[in-house]
Amino acid sequence: MTNTGHSQEENPLQPRPYRVREYYRETPDTFTLTIDMAVDHDPGQFVQVSLPGIGESPISICSDSRKFIKLNIREVGRVTRELAGLRKGDTVFLRGPYGKGYPMEQLRGNDLIIVGGGCGIAPLKGTIDYIENHREAYGEVNLFIGYRSPKDIIFSRELEEWQQKYHLHVMVDQNPAGEFCYDGRTGFVTEAIREKVQDNRNKVVFICGPPVMMRAVIGILQEKGFNDDQIFVSAERLMFCAIGVCCHCMIKGKFTCIDGPVFRYDQIKEDEQE
Ligand SMILES: Cc1cc2nc3c(=O)[nH]c(=O)nc-3n(C[C@H](O)[C@H](O)[C@H](O)COP(=O)(O)OP(=O)(O)OC[C@H]3O[C@@H](n4cnc5c(N)ncnc54)[C@H](O)[C@@H]3O)c2cc1C
Repeated sequence: MTNTGHSQEENPLQPRPYRVREYYRETPDTFTLTIDMAVDHDPGQFVQVSLPGIGESPISICSDSRKFIKLNIREVGRVTRELAGLRKGDTVFLRGPYGKGYPMEQLRGNDLIIVGGGCGIAPLKGTIDYIENHREAYGEVNLFIGYRSPKDIIFSRELEEWQQKYHLHVMVDQNPAGEFCYDGRTGFVTEAIREKVQDNRNKVVFICGPPVMMRAVIGILQEKGFNDDQIFVSAERLMFCAIGVCCHCMIKGKFTCIDGPVFRYDQIKEDEQE
């Protein structure tokens, strides 16, 4: 069942104030907030984050705790730039969680392949934390993460930990000489997937990233025999209400905000190919 985080009497559209517990600068244009929001949620769900007089943005929960939530945010416009000015102890307004996340219960017993491109690793970090908290329920875990360049590496603190616990494959598209100390692989993350993923047996794949990367990854998986119902994608659409009312995020009868943002690929395949 999907967590809404609300009792029936509460107005689901009413943002509530929460305290920022930690602010961490990940890269020149991304940061992670830890917020004192104690709420039940599923990996892949999102919250609406707002500052009075500024605006509101949907942001995925990138943690798996019932005491706090973490949000990794990229500065792209007015709301996200203002959120970047928050510091420990400040107040931020949230409503949610919203949407359908990854069906982790149904997927117990499977090997998991997690593919994140750039900021797309943020919603997937929520599933990685969930797996860590339910490690016995899943088989082998492979993480494939692609960043544009070493300066775009988010979750560098967590990468060290993931390296110890899972099969971690990190790639950067390019490494401009001398800019950063980086001794990992250079190239597209698709190369690593082509090399390391052998077959589709007992495996499910979660993908989140730029559409061009998602399409390339799905193509490789299909070549390797994966069925569309073994693949889950996270879709981002412009949205406002987050509760299936305003219709901004609607595509062909599906609301990204309530039917997604996580979809099994066979369920949205035709829409995504247009
Ligand atoms: C379900 C969901 C989960 C998301 N999770 C995260 C997350 O974990 N971290 C994160 O940094 N961002 C996430 N986003 C995107 C985030 O909501 C937008 O970047 C943010 O709302 C931009 O607001 P702004 O006022 O700063 O920029 P604006 O001035 O509104 O926009 C700046 C630029 O970003 C584009 N943009 C705005 N909203 C979106 C969107 N929803 N999808 C794609 N492009 C958009 C605009 O078209 C414009 O080009 C998510 C979006 C959705 C729908």
